[in-house]
Amino acid sequence: MQERRKRRGPIIDFLLLGLIVTLTTIILVIILSKDEFKFQKISASKETDTESVNSNLSTESSAFPGIRIVTDVSNDKRIPFAIHYPQTDNEVFNDAVLQYITDSKENYIASMKKDKEAMGELNISLETFPYREHYYSFVLTKMLYLGGANHEVTTKTFFINNETGEQITIQTLLQNDENNLSTLAANVRKDLQKNLQIKDELLTDELLKATEPKWSNFNRFAIVDDSLQFYFDEYEIASGAAGAPIVKLPLSLINPLLASDFQIAMENVKPTNPPPTGDPNKKRIALTFDDGPHPKVTEQILNILDKYHAKATFFMLGSRVQYYPDIARDVLARGHEIGNHSWNHPVLTKLTQEQVMKEYNTTASEIEKAINHGATVFRPPYGATNDTINAEIPVPVVLWTIDTLDWKHRNAQQLLPHVKNNLHNNAIVLMHDIHQSTADGLDAVLAYLQAQGYEFVTVSEILPYRQK
Ligand code: ZN
Repeated sequence: MQERRKRRGPIIDFLLLGLIVTLTTIILVIILSKDEFKFQKISASKETDTESVNSNLSTESSAFPGIRIVTDVSNDKRIPFAIHYPQTDNEVFNDAVLQYITDSKENYIASMKKDKEAMGELNISLETFPYREHYYSFVLTKMLYLGGANHEVTTKTFFINNETGEQITIQTLLQNDENNLSTLAANVRKDLQKNLQIKDELLTDELLKATEPKWSNFNRFAIVDDSLQFYFDEYEIASGAAGAPIVKLPLSLINPLLASDFQIAMENVKPTNPPPTGDPNKKRIALTFDDGPHPKVTEQILNILDKYHAKATFFMLGSRVQYYPDIARDVLARGHEIGNHSWNHPVLTKLTQEQVMKEYNTTASEIEKAINHGATVFRPPYGATNDTINAEIPVPVVLWTIDTLDWKHRNAQQLLPHVKNNLHNNAIVLMHDIHQSTADGLDAVLAYLQAQGYEFVTVSEILPYRQK
């Protein structure tokens, strides 16, 4: 043995020793990381002053420039909490957030100390939603459990311009306009009443109170994708089965109510000389085309609309979208709105509610599949609807105010007179993009309306003016 070892020489010994040390280090690192040892967190930990509950406080950068996430986790097994909140370079904002966090934490700890036997937990989670270049919505969801049936879910939101540090309120968002607030309140209320998941759980009086047009009713909001979302607490407007309700209003629906910085891009909605937004006296009209898409007529209509830079709404049948998905895509690509018009055009009021929803849902998914975007409005065939249908359909149910009877007369010359004789502001005009005569008569209609000073908008854009 001794002889062999001597033959190996000191260099080999040294290399072997090095190998052993390296392997041991690798194994240790693996074990430690599996046990989620976070050296950074440990080094950042400190004892917080809050009622002397020991906690680990750590700050990490986020995927969003200038936004950091603070994590505060209790070390006290009797008083557990896990809290996440945002931090920016703006002290005023940070103080506002910290005020909310500290209040929540202190109240919880005080309750837990009062009742030594209580089992409790506090969780505050954070979601961050960027909007445009430098706007951020922060949604803090607080789940508080104080033992027994003492359980509550509440939401607090912050909306900031991270460039200026300014916190943006709902007043700023709605141009400080009480009329805009009223329209918004009506939209939020209607959305809640139509929400399939919660409408049976709604508490009528509480709902009416929580959706009164008061600024304070709407200060929990976020812009998520292209929707303005409003948050309600658990039990605030509905029984516990509904959870904490969220209302999502597409920005396109409330675009005219919003301050200019928050409106969605004009090229997507209003390409023609956008008027001062929210002007109720502006002349506008929504042209609608039902029963398509049609491989020839729809395309002709799109070309005429382009000529006048007009936007319109196409209520499509699922059974036809199935055959002409590329035409549906073209309609969307050229800036128009797409609505759901059922699968194969039955009289919905003669169907069971289950059949009605099947008509709606199959078409909704066919449209979604074709254009990668949901239909934003619904029109029942023949305008045949009732309260149940209106309540169950999750998007606005839209009829019309001017019927051109194009399906009946099939005469290009008669299209304009029908519009002219019934013309009024904020009208919704019913036509069909399956009749050649409609495409042939459309140019005259657009020329006339344009000369009268009308702006051609989509149904979703005109709805807010019709609800006033
Ligand atoms: Zn129809």
